[in-house]
Amino acid sequence: MVLVVTVIGIIIMNIDEARAKRRARRAEKKKEREAKLSDDSHKLRPISEYLSLDPSFSPEAFKSTVSELYVSLQKGWQEKDISSFRPNMTDAFYAQMERELDKYRTKKQTNCIEKISVFGTEILGWRQDGGKDMIIVQLRTYIIDYVKDDVTGALIRGNKTSRKNMVYEWTMIRTSGMKTEDSSVAIEVTCPKCGAKVMVNQTAKCEFCGTLLTSDRFNWALSNITGLSQHTIK
Ligand SMILES: [Zn+2]
Repeated sequence: MVLVVTVIGIIIMNIDEARAKRRARRAEKKKEREAKLSDDSHKLRPISEYLSLDPSFSPEAFKSTVSELYVSLQKGWQEKDISSFRPNMTDAFYAQMERELDKYRTKKQTNCIEKISVFGTEILGWRQDGGKDMIIVQLRTYIIDYVKDDVTGALIRGNKTSRKNMVYEWTMIRTSGMKTEDSSVAIEVTCPKCGAKVMVNQTAKCEFCGTLLTSDRFNWALSNITGLSQHTIK
């Protein structure tokens, strides 16, 4: 009996040790991530300063736009159709999302996102880089997130009932020099599909072939999403 207890004791100790090691590794990685983030955020300037470049810019309106975009984008992601978000994303980010969705299409799987709620939106700051203005927004949300098989409906990953607390950083970019009032002014762009010169405003649609055009030239577009943390709420 003593032997059994001892053996179990050793096994438990080993498990504890492995857990402690894993925890230490995770803590180290987290520190590295945070160091990198605070490095990046040092370069960010407070959004109040942005008003000197764009006096009509409304942080509140911007936050609700981002939050609404998050919710509608999750739906598009689940439906594996993000084409209507073309004007809200940079070319590169749109292509990246499409590649991710292609994996689900090929495997005939769906990443279901349900019970979405955004409970916090905060503008962390802005900076300029490569002729673009960038605003970084932190989003805190709850979602139910799982992957199912399209044919059998079987659960592949995730949990259909537990809510996850997700924290993201969204990078929104716009051509430097553009102002809020410019988003309602039409500008001329060349359609990448049919080559026509078209005047577009924020709806950004080619009047000849119907192609949706990217709009970071004159309006804010999503260029990156970084997942900062996620944990399941029991
Ligand atoms: Zn066109």
